[in-house]
Amino acid sequence: MISRDAIAEYRQMPEAGYQPIGYLFYIPHAQWDAQREAVRMQRELGADVRLLTPQQAARIVPAELDGIAGASHCADDGIVDPHGICMAWVAQARALGVRFMLGREVTGLSHDGASWQVRTRNAGIVSAPGSADSDDGFKARLLVNAAGAWSGRVAALAGLQVPVGPARRMVFTTGPLDAALRLGYPYPLTVDMATGLWLRSERERLIFGLSNPEDTGFSEGIDWPWLDNTIEAALTRFPWFEQLSLDRRACWWGYYEDTPDHNAILGAMPQAPGWINACGFSGHGVQQAATVGRLIASEALGESGPIDIGPLRIERFAGGATPQSASERLIV
Ligand SMILES: Cc1cc2nc3c(=O)[nH]c(=O)nc-3n(C[C@H](O)[C@H](O)[C@H](O)COP(=O)(O)OP(=O)(O)OC[C@H]3O[C@@H](n4cnc5c(N)ncnc54)[C@H](O)[C@@H]3O)c2cc1C
Repeated sequence: MISRDAIAEYRQMPEAGYQPIGYLFYIPHAQWDAQREAVRMQRELGADVRLLTPQQAARIVPAELDGIAGASHCADDGIVDPHGICMAWVAQARALGVRFMLGREVTGLSHDGASWQVRTRNAGIVSAPGSADSDDGFKARLLVNAAGAWSGRVAALAGLQVPVGPARRMVFTTGPLDAALRLGYPYPLTVDMATGLWLRSERERLIFGLSNPEDTGFSEGIDWPWLDNTIEAALTRFPWFEQLSLDRRACWWGYYEDTPDHNAILGAMPQAPGWINACGFSGHGVQQAATVGRLIASEALGESGPIDIGPLRIERFAGGATPQSASERLIV
């Protein structure tokens, strides 16, 4: 529901540049029942997701169908320009009087009984004109921990435990596709659920990747040896990959901000007055951001928001528990 509402907002937002390229999952037999159940729930919530036969799916993105029970496809799903969205919100916030302290790293957090004392240091970025500027920090009655993959580290500065950590992901980029390989439309975000290999169009190229479950920690840069595993998975399901080239300079990497159940942590922190978590989106933060902003604003005001965030509160991890039943499975 969080993503559904955010996507509806992005569709109306010119700066988001919404492009409905669609989403296509190839599902192996072992995951078919679970996926059918997921699709039933998604349809009940208003998403126009359809189940396809393997042959129908292969007409959208050609694939080797061995071991595939079927596919799920949502033609309305799409891609946005996250930078466009972010800059539009920054401009709106500035117009409302919000001051940004750019290039300040939070290095210490303590609570004096009334407010948080936030210590900062200049992280080497020159502040924009009009930004609030202070060398040693500021006080805040309310504080939102929205530090992405670093949210666990930031919480630790205050002696708090927030189970969010980094999971590095590589995005490999092909060279421009030859005319023979270009479909008459962009390739949707296509996932082979047997391996986790994903691909989609990025203008005249494809981008693709495969998660490495061992790659947790703050390692930096592209893990080039992982390209071999990625290509092997790609060739197994999409043998036409053999005809593609790689543009090494256009490849990139970043951190997912994972929680133990791959769902976000939203809402007030128990025993930490004025501390609100908005983190741990586990690779879904862009598609959820618009709704999360409203939910966190409601939480800060002590109001109930448009969606019940109860199941996403940090209390679900009390005593080190991981609520497996609600774990998100479709992470790539
Ligand atoms: C390869 C890749 C593909 C992705 N694809 C998708 C996708 O298709 N759809 C989707 O919805 N999401 C996707 N994501 C995930 C999405 O990018 C994240 O979920 C989202 O960016 C999280 O936003 P955030 O604001 O919570 O954290 P971030 O965008 O990480 O922002 C956190 C900020 O906190 C700052 N910070 C950290 N520590 C400190 C400190 N001590 N002091 C001050 N500032 C600090 C960081 O510098 C950073 O600017 C993808 C991520 C990756 C890496």
